[in-house]
Amino acid sequence: MAHRPLKLIVHAEALRHNWRALRDAAGVETGAAIKADGYGLGARPVMETLFDEGARDFFVATWNEAEQLGALPEGARLGVFHGVGPDDGAAAASSPARPVLNSVMQVQRWRAIAPDRPCDVMVETGMNRLGVGMDELGELDGLRIDTLHSHMACADEPEHPLNAQQLSRFREAKAQVAARRYSLANSAAICLGEDYAFDLVRPGIALYGGIPVAAMAGMIEPVVEVQAQVLQLRLLKAGDAIGYNATFTADRDTPVAILNLGYADGFPRNMSGKGHARIAGRKLPLLGRVSMDLVAVDVTHANTDLREGDWMRVDYDVCSIAREAGISQYEALTGLGDRFERVWKD
Ligand SMILES: *Cc1c(COP(=O)(O)O)cnc(C)c1O
Repeated sequence: MAHRPLKLIVHAEALRHNWRALRDAAGVETGAAIKADGYGLGARPVMETLFDEGARDFFVATWNEAEQLGALPEGARLGVFHGVGPDDGAAAASSPARPVLNSVMQVQRWRAIAPDRPCDVMVETGMNRLGVGMDELGELDGLRIDTLHSHMACADEPEHPLNAQQLSRFREAKAQVAARRYSLANSAAICLGEDYAFDLVRPGIALYGGIPVAAMAGMIEPVVEVQAQVLQLRLLKAGDAIGYNATFTADRDTPVAILNLGYADGFPRNMSGKGHARIAGRKLPLLGRVSMDLVAVDVTHANTDLREGDWMRVDYDVCSIAREAGISQYEALTGLGDRFERVWKD
């Protein structure tokens, strides 16, 4: 395979640390949402790493994601959040994964496909996105429900009144629907306290280094690191501009490095003029526009003899990138494209 000039370093020990920290905070079984290719890190290696650490419950969004994941480790369980749609019958029938049924239609479809196999069900408690309604719970009679779920809309705003409302509706649903387990909390909801934990928590973003609520700041470690290779070095003369629309003009002679990284890789275009790269611990500002495939770095203070092909670290703290680029932490991770070579390190 041809060389890739761009690396996403994934720190396995930080991923494991975050999973253990969330498990200890929740005090109950702790799974992992690995949809969107493990939030951009790679669903398969995320699953294997967390399985070795003790995680048994994994969740993807679609049957295609379930299929891409390949064979499950012995003892792992996989849930498919989007349930069984009109085009999913064959995949659902042949997959070892459990659907998370979201509507009465989906319940009927599943009864026709595999009436005796366990499934999960999502109940709608206030987010109004997916889920069987509170007034439809009677339609679940006779299903073998492994886990009854609901999903929090505002857990990242601990004071939001919808949190307590969703909790109380989920308790009502629990009283009416028999299931082996009950599960409500995503990452942020783990910080809302033990009332929200039930039997199983389903963190995603915080596993991967996102910090959805301030209370998590001390407990979560960054997992990803971006490294890009220098494609070209040049010297801007005072008065020269750089990049599309010439948004930066050098006020002195300025040596720059052009890196193999751009918005097509998920590096936000809104980081134009804001981001930093690093070499040997020196912090170096990005200059001008972030292009599709390239970005320029001011290497005046690099303090080292740079050459084409040298690797530079580009700051990619998920929380700062999200804040500075005006995107969510989820976008900062799931946008990381497939031109990265994903390199797992312990
Ligand atoms: C994505 C998802 C999660 C994980 O949410 P985070 O906010 O990333 O922790 C949990 N449950 C459901 C239903 C989801 O769709």
